Amino acid sequence: MNKFTKLFFNFIDRLHSAYQNTDAKVGDSVRQGDTAELIDAIKKAQSERDRVESLAHDLEKFKLAVEGASDHISITDIDGMVLYVNKAVEKITGYGREEVVGKKAGSLWKLPMPQEYYQNMWDTIKTQKKSFIGELRNRKKDGTVYISSINIFPVLDKGGAVLFFVGIERDITREKQIDTEKTEFVSLASHQLRTPLTAINWYSEMLLDGDAGTMTERQKQYIEEIHTSGQRLIDLVTALLNISRVERGTLTVSPEPIDIIESCEAIIKELTPQINKKHITIMRQFETGMPIMKVDRSFIGIVFQNLITNAIEYTREGGFIVVAITRDGKNLLCSVADNGIGIPVDAQSRIFEKMYRADNAMDMKSDGNGLGLYLVRSIIERNNGNIWFISEQNKGTTFLFTLPLSGMLSKEGTKTLVS
Ligand code: ADP
Repeated sequence: MNKFTKLFFNFIDRLHSAYQNTDAKVGDSVRQGDTAELIDAIKKAQSERDRVESLAHDLEKFKLAVEGASDHISITDIDGMVLYVNKAVEKITGYGREEVVGKKAGSLWKLPMPQEYYQNMWDTIKTQKKSFIGELRNRKKDGTVYISSINIFPVLDKGGAVLFFVGIERDITREKQIDTEKTEFVSLASHQLRTPLTAINWYSEMLLDGDAGTMTERQKQYIEEIHTSGQRLIDLVTALLNISRVERGTLTVSPEPIDIIESCEAIIKELTPQINKKHITIMRQFETGMPIMKVDRSFIGIVFQNLITNAIEYTREGGFIVVAITRDGKNLLCSVADNGIGIPVDAQSRIFEKMYRADNAMDMKSDGNGLGLYLVRSIIERNNGNIWFISEQNKGTTFLFTLPLSGMLSKEGTKTLVS
């Protein structure tokens, strides 16, 4: 064994203790006494050392970032037992880390939520292995209630099995408060605006009816403009008022036994003048023997009213509309189809957003407010239903919605929807 080899041996000994995973490769080379192989092994050991060092460095950076984050970050085992929490837990919940680790996540601060909420959460993260995004009402150690947004996602091994869960929680109490204040303001302002606007319309109608004597054609034309604009404003504040009531959760839900086909027919009858004016053919596909459902009459009325009005407005003269009511398992399934202008592909993802209107709709009808579908979706989803659509530009659109046949759950609130 030459001098160099001895020196290398020394070096290897030191590496050996530091990096156990390279131990076998280096040891084998040395026994063979092959210098070239030894140099190769040392190079590998060095590169492995660099890799481990850089990994350790990255981990340290990562740890500092997680520790310093203002969001509360936790890692739990697959049963929800906390393995790690960052410092933010103390600020957000008031509990010290030592009080939290080893306990079930949220057991200290969680306020009761419906059982289905947690079932859905566990199903999403454990069975479907997807991320769950939601909001929770929690209580700090000192008793203060706060609202947090949560995002929990599973970390999987190479075989797809859940290793652990990571939860990121943010205190959004302040944002929620601002949101509530804004909604309250909109509600109050719309309510205040409705009375004078109704008066303007009422008096312009009286003038048009000749109650204050005959008018010249020019005067009539001006008053008609005032009436049309006034009606648009009433529609807008009514939609804003209804939306703010739905969002504030102050609405009374009064389900009563209803024949859905009958309530849909009532809306079609109301809209018949518009349907006839555009020479639109309306067809019905109603399943016979539909059960009577317990739903709030004003809710279902607003849903049909918006969907059928849109179908009329966004369909050209002489077009057709098909309204269908059927059963789909445990759900009521309704659809309103038209062969109108359709929804452009680039607008489709935004169509249920508040005040969003597609360009082709604005070209066809300049005075919409983009609030109808938002309200319809809020009503449907708050009553455990779903709404979606299929559309192709210049071919037509079909809106579909479901509601559980078991009906709507009654709720004692302070307000009702206005029409
Ligand atoms: P508005 O009709 O007042 O604009 P809505 O909230 O009812 O407001 O609808 C939002 C947008 O959805 C419309 O502006 C239009 O772009 C699109 N839309 C809704 N229904 C239809 C339909 N049947 N055909 C084509 N586009 C539609």
